[in-house]
Amino acid sequence: MRLAKPLPPNSVIGILGGGQLGRMLALAAARLGLKCHIFAPEADSPAFQVAARHTCAAYDDAQALHAFATGIDVVTYEFENVPAETAAILARLVPLAPGSEALATSQDRFVEKTFLAGIGLETAEFAPVDDLDGLERAIARIGRPSILKTRRFGYDGKGQISIRHDIMLDAAWAQFGKRPAILEAFIDFEIEVSVIAARGWDGSIAVYDVPENRHVNHILHQSIVPAAIAQTTAAQARNIAGRITSALDYVGVIGVELFVARRDGQERLIVNEIAPRVHNSGHWTMDACIVSQFEQHIRAIAGWPLGDPGRHSDVVMTNLLGDEAENWRNLAREAQAGLHLYGKAECRPGRKMGHMNRLTPRQG
Ligand code: AMP
Repeated sequence: MRLAKPLPPNSVIGILGGGQLGRMLALAAARLGLKCHIFAPEADSPAFQVAARHTCAAYDDAQALHAFATGIDVVTYEFENVPAETAAILARLVPLAPGSEALATSQDRFVEKTFLAGIGLETAEFAPVDDLDGLERAIARIGRPSILKTRRFGYDGKGQISIRHDIMLDAAWAQFGKRPAILEAFIDFEIEVSVIAARGWDGSIAVYDVPENRHVNHILHQSIVPAAIAQTTAAQARNIAGRITSALDYVGVIGVELFVARRDGQERLIVNEIAPRVHNSGHWTMDACIVSQFEQHIRAIAGWPLGDPGRHSDVVMTNLLGDEAENWRNLAREAQAGLHLYGKAECRPGRKMGHMNRLTPRQG
């Protein structure tokens, strides 16, 4: 179901998922006079605190989903592992954006990489692996070092193991847990970058500048904008994001993660994965752009004109994990910096509690 007409202020946007991304979407929607209804199973969801309405129910609670759908004008999600059946129930009742094709493509790494390669983009060489025989065949083709990843539900490096030269395949397969997987060639990249792009119901596209993303313990630590890559490489990255959104007839904000490697002295881009939602590597847009990725997503799904993705400052976004956010008194004193805290009651090691955007004058 497509959106019939742009949603005027006071319309209601349904959001599946109540984490920090849902929270920041609801805050951005409120700025435009739009209301949000959050649907999430966790009673202490951070997004509940800032939304006009919320429903606390399981994603397979068909009755709760029907009640939710009757009071909203469009539905979106803040995480890509929305059960297919949940999305299908809602999509029959209300426009769903991004649509189910984007969801299905990004939920399974093999489907995702097949899609990316199918539209002519470079990915790591890959092969599906369902059993030990399959792993042996995949290694014979792709070689070592390589990475074995779960097809579904992997994030922040979870559900992955490196297949180095010294590793026994039967032990690796047993340790991995014998789940449907893909094997990927190891990419000897220089840096990791991403592109945050938005596409509207009318096919209009807005693309932000390209950050370099640095990880610590597989969790995003910083996004540095702009990335130190050639302008032509940045333009290619932005173009790749546009091609992906068009191919999926996508509506909303998407995050595209890429590796920058070097071949014959030239930078080349290899697509790692796509996230059909607002993305941690786009949090810098909240302070360095007039229209953040969150507002852009709301505009896109509500049928509004997309906002200007231009950047007025250079910026470094730093995630605040675990007890790092307890330093809020000092962080709040910093000049030229935007502090964002997610209102999470419980602080656990590695948990994303907030982030800080530190701005400097734009250099180019
Ligand atoms: P992913 O869950 O696919 O985003 O992978 C998590 C991290 O593992 C990435 O951000 C990379 O740092 C690393 N990684 C993933 N795939 C590869 C690959 N094919 N080659 C080298 N490093 C990888």
